[in-house]
Amino acid sequence: MTTPNTPRIALGCFMLESNAHSPVATREEFLQNYLAFGDDMMHDWQSEHPQAPKCLTGFIADMNASTAWTPLPLMGAMVGASGPIDRGFFDEVVREMCGRLQAALPVAGVFLSLHGAAIGTVEVDPDGMLLASIREIVGPDVPIVATLDLHANVSQKMVDNANVLVVYRTNPHVDMHERGVESALHMRELLQGAHATAAFVKLPFIPPSVTQNTKAGPYADIIAYGQSKVDTRVMNVSVVSGFSLGDTIKNGMSVIVTTRNDSALAKSLCIDIATKTWNDRHRYIPNLTSIDEATRLARECGRDLSRPALLFADVADNPGGGGRGNTVWILKSFVEAGVEGALLGIFFDPALAAEAHRSGVGASFHARFNSGESHPLSGKFEADATVEGLHHGSIIGLRGISAGHGIKLGPMALLRVAGVRVVVVSVRQQCKDTAMFEVFGIDIAKERSVIVKSRGHFRAAFDLLFSDEHIIEVDVPGLTTPILSRVPYRHVPRPIFPLDADTAWLPPS
Ligand SMILES: [Zn+2]
Repeated sequence: MTTPNTPRIALGCFMLESNAHSPVATREEFLQNYLAFGDDMMHDWQSEHPQAPKCLTGFIADMNASTAWTPLPLMGAMVGASGPIDRGFFDEVVREMCGRLQAALPVAGVFLSLHGAAIGTVEVDPDGMLLASIREIVGPDVPIVATLDLHANVSQKMVDNANVLVVYRTNPHVDMHERGVESALHMRELLQGAHATAAFVKLPFIPPSVTQNTKAGPYADIIAYGQSKVDTRVMNVSVVSGFSLGDTIKNGMSVIVTTRNDSALAKSLCIDIATKTWNDRHRYIPNLTSIDEATRLARECGRDLSRPALLFADVADNPGGGGRGNTVWILKSFVEAGVEGALLGIFFDPALAAEAHRSGVGASFHARFNSGESHPLSGKFEADATVEGLHHGSIIGLRGISAGHGIKLGPMALLRVAGVRVVVVSVRQQCKDTAMFEVFGIDIAKERSVIVKSRGHFRAAFDLLFSDEHIIEVDVPGLTTPILSRVPYRHVPRPIFPLDADTAWLPPS
């Protein structure tokens, strides 16, 4: 496949979504998820390692199928969502990525799988800083193509230092592989001499996380409109909703239009899409259900088997957005109200999982939820529990964004607390796959209510069990609340909508 004359393409991955109010993202946390260097990475990616970043495997698969090339793996660091990245570890990422790139020169192109919503304990724009460092090494003429999550908080620096930024178009994100394939297409075009020109507009508008679904609604409409403009002149249109909880000067919805060397078209189309997005901002209003009403609905569901089962989304405690995955508010309310036939997951509490493993299946003990947690939004809860199941916690996703992907949850336990069964895990993760329950032999279709700690990615996995009208988004405290007026913002540029209702915006002239 590779000969000395084939294009040498450097490959890297850095993926972190930083909730500014979550604890620092450490090297250990990356290591627990995905951290690899040099040729080790290539082995992972070619052999479809279950943890390998899907944009990279998509890019590599399409390059392999389409052309002779020489891949030069630099490094990969990936974690879901966490807090700001630890300074020492981010320095290591930059040092490894840039040092290995320098050693690999000359290269014909660089492909990076980025998230785009990282912040650092010191660096405010890690993704932009990384792209700028790479641009400095390869110079202005070597194409840099990168994928971004649609929750990226895009900066001008990121746009200026990449030739094409390719952003996911689905939420839940089921098109990561496809965007990697698209990036490979752009890379080959650039290698053949095409010239990409990008325009970028950032709006003073933070859409709440729960109103960014792409199946239907305002975000689906604007993405579809953007895609209708892709043609022989327009390489890529990306409408980037952004990560509301980043609390950074980069917060805000973004539009990036990349054309084939037509800067006037890129600019006019970018402004057109941004204007449409802005004019539609009032449609992005969350519709949450109070905990009292959710509890009443769950209790009725448990008692009246003729009613359709309900799924309750704990959107404010989504580990996929930096939530702790352990707030007790719904659990406590449902248990205290005597709700029957409920299943809750996945609850992050390593101490509790360990105690269940020590106790064994069938044992009963007094469960102390969050005995090792100090975050005030998590809360404490104690109740008698019975161990109904134990699992080692290495599972393979069955459906949705993690289908076929390895998921590491550490020691898991299924606990019964009165009428609520709780899946407890030892590695923080959002509930994004039915396998997280099914490994215990649970038939989810027989449950009366299911409570998931996830904002929206669960929808791609639970869609066969719960239609949209049977999904209830519950309003409880948590680090990922979509009620933005409750988020203690310090760094977002003001005024910004919806925090400042009368925010004005005019298209750049
Ligand atoms: Zn995302």
